[in-house]
Amino acid sequence: MLLPRLQQIVGAAHVLTASDATAPYLTDWRRRFTGMAQAVVLPAATSEVAAVVQLCAEHGTPVVPQGGNTGMVGGATPDPSGQAIVLSLRRMDRVREVDAGNQTITVEAGCVLRSVQDAARDAGLLFPLSLAAEGSATIGGNLSTNAGGTQVLRYGNSRDLTLGLELVLASGEIWNGLRGLRKDNTGYDLRNLFIGAEGTLGVITAACLKTYPLPRAQVTALFALDSVRAALDLLSLAQSSAGATLTAFEFFSDTCLRLVTRHFPDRRSPFSESHAQYVLMQLSDHEDEQHATGLLQAIAERALERQLIADAAIAQSAAQGHALWALRELISEAQARAGKNIKHDISVPISSIARFIDETDEQLARLFAGIEMVTFGHLGDGNLHYNVNAPPQLSEQQFLSMQPAVYQCVHDQVVRFAGSISAEHGIGQLKREENARYKSAVELGLMRAIKRTLDPLNIMNPGKVI
Ligand SMILES: Cc1cc2nc3c(=O)[nH]c(=O)nc-3n(C[C@H](O)[C@H](O)[C@H](O)COP(=O)(O)OP(=O)(O)OC[C@H]3O[C@@H](n4cnc5c(N)ncnc54)[C@H](O)[C@@H]3O)c2cc1C
Repeated sequence: MLLPRLQQIVGAAHVLTASDATAPYLTDWRRRFTGMAQAVVLPAATSEVAAVVQLCAEHGTPVVPQGGNTGMVGGATPDPSGQAIVLSLRRMDRVREVDAGNQTITVEAGCVLRSVQDAARDAGLLFPLSLAAEGSATIGGNLSTNAGGTQVLRYGNSRDLTLGLELVLASGEIWNGLRGLRKDNTGYDLRNLFIGAEGTLGVITAACLKTYPLPRAQVTALFALDSVRAALDLLSLAQSSAGATLTAFEFFSDTCLRLVTRHFPDRRSPFSESHAQYVLMQLSDHEDEQHATGLLQAIAERALERQLIADAAIAQSAAQGHALWALRELISEAQARAGKNIKHDISVPISSIARFIDETDEQLARLFAGIEMVTFGHLGDGNLHYNVNAPPQLSEQQFLSMQPAVYQCVHDQVVRFAGSISAEHGIGQLKREENARYKSAVELGLMRAIKRTLDPLNIMNPGKVI
């Protein structure tokens, strides 16, 4: 009896049950998980989400919220039992309000991140959240994973960019917390509980987001370096020279660059020789292009004098800037094309990164002969995508069966360096057991108590996070 009532709520055309229609919603972006569902349901309004969730609560039916399905940890994929519904927010994609005076934009959860950036830009504002999947990822997914991306160094992560939320709770009640306030000390911080909850506590239906003045100029450079330590010294130099003008400091190894140029043959390194490491630096300037370029050139000159860099390519046009960014942003896609890999999305204190990489690379090479490290990330945030490619002699299946041992080696090291096993991708179903291994009993107990209180029937994205 569930399906006819779902059809009444959202319209028959928006309850998908045919296997060819549901298939894209049932496998995650990395193709690590495939689940089953009674239906994929696509509501068009908050009231419809509320009615769907209330109905599911009556039936004890699990609800798996989904946005752009670009998540890295299987959080938006249902389990194989076929009991759940996938609740796709994609039809809820309206920009509700741009308030330039308050520097805010209020959007529905299914808005694709790039369209939020565009709507803000059209109003002369900057919405700074930016990540390589921004053409498909939605605001609901960004907030539910507390997404980071390339501008965290200057503007913070999704949590820092959110002022208010509208939510449908596991009971089907609507909480309208869409406040555009920068100060509001009226009790517990409920908003921040739902950000990063990966759909396990409720459904985000809309958000009021912070915007910033649009910079007058943005300049980008790619630096070639011999070591991670040199990249960290370059970070200090850039921070002390450029202050808040420094908006991105991304890092990748030569293995990453070779992966991108192999799988995207129209992409080229700007350097004639290869180097061990690269840093992509972006300055966003509120004066003008000349000022921004002058600052970047001064950083490059000082870095050369101090022998921190071996070479530099400063973009002379927006098109050249995009081409340099593509070398960084296509790494995940190139890795996906290369085959399955074991990913770690970790953070450690910035001061420990070089030692972490040296020691962990060495341990992995000793334990798993022939592996290839694909290391890149948001160096300015201490966040590494520290990924492991299979040795050539092993099949994908043989390699993936080593995942628990590889995880343990890397995550034990992360804990030894006082870091986190998930810096920005979340826990989902992929890292649930890892999270339970490393969190204290007290912290897990608090998380379970929150889950029981907000979702007593355990219908919201069960089997994810805890
Ligand atoms: C090429 C590539 C690059 C990436 N780069 C980055 C990066 O730099 N930084 C980063 O943080 N992430 C990155 N990601 C991961 C991913 O894009 C982000 O996690 C993104 O925020 C997910 O958005 P989505 O709409 O696709 O969410 P989905 O994948 O659909 O869902 C993610 C989680 O959020 C839940 N969810 C989705 N919508 C809602 C909602 N409305 N209410 C409640 N729960 C909801 C789902 O149940 C699931 O648990 C990258 C992914 C790819 C493919």
